[in-house]
Amino acid sequence: MKAQVFRGVNHLSYEEVPLPEVLADEVLVQVQVVGLCQSDIKKIRYPLYEPPRIFGHETAGTIAAVGSDVKGWQVGDRVVVLHHIPCMHCAYCLNDNFSMCDVYKNITTTAGFAPSGGGFAEYVKVPGHIVRNGGLIQIPDSITFEQASFVEPTNCCLKAVKKAQVQPGQTVLITGAGPIGLMFIMLVKYFGARAIATDLLPSRIDKALTVGADAAFDARDPDLAAKVHGLTQGMGVDTSLLAVPSEKAFFQALDCTRKGGKILFFAEFPDEVEIPINPNILYRREIDLMGSYSSSYRVQALAADIVFNRRIDVDALISDRYPLKDLAAAVEQAIAPAEDTYKILIYP
Ligand SMILES: [Zn+2]
Ligand SMILES: [Zn+2]
Repeated sequence: MKAQVFRGVNHLSYEEVPLPEVLADEVLVQVQVVGLCQSDIKKIRYPLYEPPRIFGHETAGTIAAVGSDVKGWQVGDRVVVLHHIPCMHCAYCLNDNFSMCDVYKNITTTAGFAPSGGGFAEYVKVPGHIVRNGGLIQIPDSITFEQASFVEPTNCCLKAVKKAQVQPGQTVLITGAGPIGLMFIMLVKYFGARAIATDLLPSRIDKALTVGADAAFDARDPDLAAKVHGLTQGMGVDTSLLAVPSEKAFFQALDCTRKGGKILFFAEFPDEVEIPINPNILYRREIDLMGSYSSSYRVQALAADIVFNRRIDVDALISDRYPLKDLAAAVEQAIAPAEDTYKILIYP
């Protein structure tokens, strides 16, 4: 089969690799659509992982082979493939910190080499632990593979929105209106809160409004904090979700968040960035800083419900489609987005 193999920093190689062998408790899925995620781009552009590897984890496809011991799945079933499932009984899992679980981190789907997601291939193998524990989700007939590929990123965003305890009637600032920021806007609206978005690109500011933001501003606007206070009876927003790895965005969020509010780091920063902060700002204003990484088992059913019952319009997030052989070009486009670049989908 064909796969995009990570051969080193910024080096993707479109190669013939062996079809994964399926053990008795495993399932093989033919990948139909796989979303390109910011985390994939980081793994390709920075020396974070030893090559060779096959990345890709926002996978939707068709079951192509089923191990002899597997119950409940058949060849031809249309499925979302989750690349991680926690153990459910370690100290992290018992405290709902599923993405910190060693099993969650270490067992994943693979198309060959060190297991790394494996969605950037024609076929991906799902290990027994993931098959047995809810890591395959049936796609309803009314939902396309494209739409289904959004279940994983929806889970990640949903986890963050839940962690920040966004409530109906609250106002949320979302810094960055790329594919993640736009999804945050949709989710925040779904939970009955108001969304204010910022971005540098005029097209993204417009797009934020079309997907439901109550207001959207240029992130360079010197009056941003005053405008946000104007929209919130002078209080500031209840929560800020940082969907860009920008120090400036953090300080803007600090200026725009009300006393007792929350600021959540969602975008991953480059490791060399450090943000100096006066702790008394957090103390006197009782601002909670939090981070949210990856997905949560706890919101899995809700993430699937939101996508499968069209509670958010994931189609509005799709901007570009690339065949698997052109993954490198897709990555280039994601790094230097055009005016109308949002979510990029890949087709093996
Ligand atoms: Zn992702
Ligand atoms: Zn665990």
